[in-house]
Amino acid sequence: MSSPYNVRIVGDPVLRAVADEITDIDGRLVKLADDMLETMYAEPGIGLAAPQIGVGRRFFVYDIGEGPQALVNPVIQESRGEWTFDEGCLSVPNMSFEIVRPKEIHITGYDLDGNEVSIEADELLSRLFQHELDHLDGVLLLDHLDDDTRKDAMKVLRDRELETPEPKKRKLGGLSLP
Ligand SMILES: [Zn+2]
Repeated sequence: MSSPYNVRIVGDPVLRAVADEITDIDGRLVKLADDMLETMYAEPGIGLAAPQIGVGRRFFVYDIGEGPQALVNPVIQESRGEWTFDEGCLSVPNMSFEIVRPKEIHITGYDLDGNEVSIEADELLSRLFQHELDHLDGVLLLDHLDDDTRKDAMKVLRDRELETPEPKKRKLGGLSLP
């Protein structure tokens, strides 16, 4: 099954840009959220931020088993405690790292009807929110690693890129086109 979008992979500059605040919650945004959810479920993932499909706007979709949700212009108001979790990212495929972050957060934002929402999140949901909010600020989970671990991870990513075979050249009437 093909999903509406390809998830952008580390190295793509859109993942490093700070996303813009959303000023209008309209039908187009709702449609975009639907497409993002479809893309997220197809991967599969439990969260997907707009920059991960190349859209520099401040919102993300998620589902930790309680149904599809979206959060627009999210802001972390407060965070407490510490929690270690083996964290992965669709934009850094097939890698995961033990990362320490606050255990609980209080996050506010808007839903797709334009209503203000205020959520007290703990453990997995809290982690998901912090991870997706990072994406809106151009931050990747690699930035949370110590220098040595990050260097190793970047090397694995570079080696992987070198292993990717070149796209096949198309043959047309005996001519090889680039
Ligand atoms: Zn991610």
